[in-house]
Amino acid sequence: MPRTITARRLLTEKEEIDHPRITVEDGRILSLESGLPNDSDETLTAAFLDIHVHGAVSHDFMTANGAEIDSISRFLGSRGVAYYLPTTVTGPTDLTLRALETLADSIEKDSTDGFDAARPVAIHLEGPFVSHLRRGVHPVACLLEPSIALFDRFQHAARGHIRLMTIAPELPNSLEVMKHAIGQGVRVSMGHTDANEAEALAAIKVGAASATHAFNAMRPLNHREPGILGSVLDQDAVYAEAICDGIHVHPAMIRLWLRMKGDTRAILVTDGMSATGMPDGTYNLGDMTVEVKNGVCLAGETLAGSVLTMEQAVANLQRFTGSPLGTAVRLASHNPARMLGMPSLMSFEPGCPANFNVYDGEGRRTATILKGNRLPN
Ligand SMILES: [Zn+2]
Repeated sequence: MPRTITARRLLTEKEEIDHPRITVEDGRILSLESGLPNDSDETLTAAFLDIHVHGAVSHDFMTANGAEIDSISRFLGSRGVAYYLPTTVTGPTDLTLRALETLADSIEKDSTDGFDAARPVAIHLEGPFVSHLRRGVHPVACLLEPSIALFDRFQHAARGHIRLMTIAPELPNSLEVMKHAIGQGVRVSMGHTDANEAEALAAIKVGAASATHAFNAMRPLNHREPGILGSVLDQDAVYAEAICDGIHVHPAMIRLWLRMKGDTRAILVTDGMSATGMPDGTYNLGDMTVEVKNGVCLAGETLAGSVLTMEQAVANLQRFTGSPLGTAVRLASHNPARMLGMPSLMSFEPGCPANFNVYDGEGRRTATILKGNRLPN
């Protein structure tokens, strides 16, 4: 039986539709039109896509089993995320290979069973091809030089589901590995890197599409040697992630980032780790122990991911930059989907899953709609 969803307005990537009337059957959009005025004060937006998340509700993608991945997916769904890229962290090669196999199982699982959960759609491989100088908390003993053979082992274990790879352009063989991965449809994101300008531009020239958590774990800006960060901000075609929690990047730098990247190339990510959705305490990120206190995640003295949710990132971006809701949501949905070459994930065309976020008249997110199924907060 088809059902109807109505609202005051729907924010699509390009426009605002007044009084949308959306007919849904079997979780998919049958039709979408501007209907008669109704008394709803709700706004519908796209549901979120998080391309950089390491875990939640005490589970980490490096070690989680299928049931634990399902609990992460349900948590993310309850916070407005429809799709996500489970993200690895540098670890022993055997551990990484096992994690990739398990993640591939979850991605390939029949998607019709999850009407209350976000879906993992591909994998983000973060590490081991990252810089010693800018490793953040990635364990030094497991960092490796880029290698096509090793990338192929990872992609084989992942059964082709690695879609995004963070890599430092200045490492030996990095450009060859980038070209090889890009040839398979993988998006390359420059990150955990000490690259200078020439090294960054060389990576962009071979097709690097994005930058991983811009500002963090990256050579800082210098006005005589712009380095990776200067190039990423300056080159219009390059996307850039940011962790908009007010801890990883100062609000003034978020404003600069948004001005430079604009509302088509800026991407909000959470970099959320296993403590997300949990009280302060001791948690794991891959092999590491992380202490979470007042929402700050530290391994020793170094920031180790976040407990940010995408709904909070979107709210912070509005608060820090004064951007309207539509812009903030685009940074968390359409932009990452376009960067990945998966724009249909965020489409409202007939036949697409009926996934939305619901905001009330005051701009507060009150519910997620996944496949037409309304999940209150
Ligand atoms: Zn990360």
